[in-house]
Amino acid sequence: MITLRSHLEGRWVEGASPQTLVNPATEEPLARAGSAGLGLAAALEFARRTGGPALRALTFAQRGHLLQAMADALQARRDELLDLAVRNGGNTRSDAKFDVDGATFTLSAYAELGQGLGEARFLVDGEGISLARSPRFHGQHLMVPRRGVAVHVNAFNFPAWGLAEKAAVALLAGVPVVSKPASSSAMVAHRIVEILIEKQVLPPGALSLLVGGPGELLDHLGPQDVVAFTGSSDTGARIRVLPQVIRNSVRVNVEADSLNAAVLGPDADPGSETYEFFLKDVVRDMTQKAGQKCTAIRRVTVPAAVADRVRDDLVDRLRTITVGNPAHEGVRMGPVATAGQLEDVRRGIDLLARDGRLVHGEAALRPVGVEPGRGFFVGPVLLEVEPGADAPSVHSHEVFGPVATVVPYSGGATEAAEIVARGRGGLVSSVYSEDAAFTSQVVMELAPFHGRIFLGSAKIAEMSPGPGTVLPLLVHGGPGRAGGGEELGGLRGLAFYLQRVALEGSRPTIEKIVKDGG
Ligand code: NAP
Repeated sequence: MITLRSHLEGRWVEGASPQTLVNPATEEPLARAGSAGLGLAAALEFARRTGGPALRALTFAQRGHLLQAMADALQARRDELLDLAVRNGGNTRSDAKFDVDGATFTLSAYAELGQGLGEARFLVDGEGISLARSPRFHGQHLMVPRRGVAVHVNAFNFPAWGLAEKAAVALLAGVPVVSKPASSSAMVAHRIVEILIEKQVLPPGALSLLVGGPGELLDHLGPQDVVAFTGSSDTGARIRVLPQVIRNSVRVNVEADSLNAAVLGPDADPGSETYEFFLKDVVRDMTQKAGQKCTAIRRVTVPAAVADRVRDDLVDRLRTITVGNPAHEGVRMGPVATAGQLEDVRRGIDLLARDGRLVHGEAALRPVGVEPGRGFFVGPVLLEVEPGADAPSVHSHEVFGPVATVVPYSGGATEAAEIVARGRGGLVSSVYSEDAAFTSQVVMELAPFHGRIFLGSAKIAEMSPGPGTVLPLLVHGGPGRAGGGEELGGLRGLAFYLQRVALEGSRPTIEKIVKDGG
């Protein structure tokens, strides 16, 4: 069994009190990682003092080159990373590609944005403004890199993409990163950082890694630092109220739970292209990464008139999903990540079943390619609720596994949207319809409650990755339950790492500052 080390202050260091990382399909121990006793205050200071100045000295185009070099280095070791994701993440090869290729794609997308920004080192925000009758008194907003460190705390489900999507934006902004992957699946993130260090892709201090528990990592946050967190609402809420976060006005971005809904329009008749597109996306979201995607469809919101048909069609498709050890040929869905996760999912299914009826479950689940009783397996589970039922748990409890509930609506766009909004804020919801008026009404009703809305139409079916895929040029995040955060969105994502400052003074002086660096 190997021991994973953290990369702090420019060197590999081993922490004490390690936890054991396992293969969730076989429960075979794979690695140990601990963080006790590591000098985390010094690690943050090293990033601020060494990584920060090195990044800020570069132009956006040069930082973009670094991101492309990161993408190339990971692409060159893609197979190795995919194998690790299968072993430590319980990912099928296709799940693993989703994570690892998502990481390289996002790095490349931000590399290109960096090229577009060219030789500047900070952003000019909007046009200059005349502040008096005379044009000499002038105003201009700039956005400059903060002088702190970006602490990135990630969830277990996307160890590669989670690290890369956050790091790409911070590094392009000119802010050094300390990344902490979730402990249970840290092997992929650890290997990524090893590859980048071996290749010497980044300047010292630009990217550090902490494996093992968070320890006192967040105890040392200062006023120029930021925290981007992805994980459960409970942990997010704890981070927000840390005394040093409040005292130092540390910026915190939280990406948390979400009860994403997919609304089927009344015009999408069973058998139509739009209907088939909808079913395909629901099944993919339920089974990809064993449903452990923050963007996965949890509430299948359909006209009451076709609810039985949708249920039966989904059950037919879910029956064809082979569950088992993802290292085996033909397995379409692997296990969930940990024993604790399995327990949570089972508890969640019981909770949902109080408000709904289980129509497809795991009664006869026999995962292939594993010894009986081994691994953290749960089969795809579909529930349904009666039209008009309150079903509070369905609208308030995220089961982070291969689980969805069919929720019928009767009264058109307004009722469909009202049902979705009961989720109290989401990352993404979707509407599948060819009826522009229905789509537009649902979109406008849902927009205040979501970070992204996916418009599922047969016209885009061929090229669409579905609502569950986060794209670097669109924002990711959502209000309320989803954490209130916002990541990515192309250049929008940089704002979190930059300080907006208004310059007020003589026009030639301000214009010179802008010309020299903006
Ligand atoms: P979690 O238990 O909240 O853990 C997330 C991360 O926080 C892990 O790295 C964890 O470290 C760390 N952590 C735990 N306690 C902490 C503390 N007191 N201070 C600082 N860090 C702490 O969540 P999870 O089980 O990994 O992830 C599942 C949840 O994430 C789901 O609810 C899902 O919806 C959400 N999620 C959201 C998004 C999104 O983009 N919105 C994406 C993916 C997942 P250890 O692993 O070492 O404990």
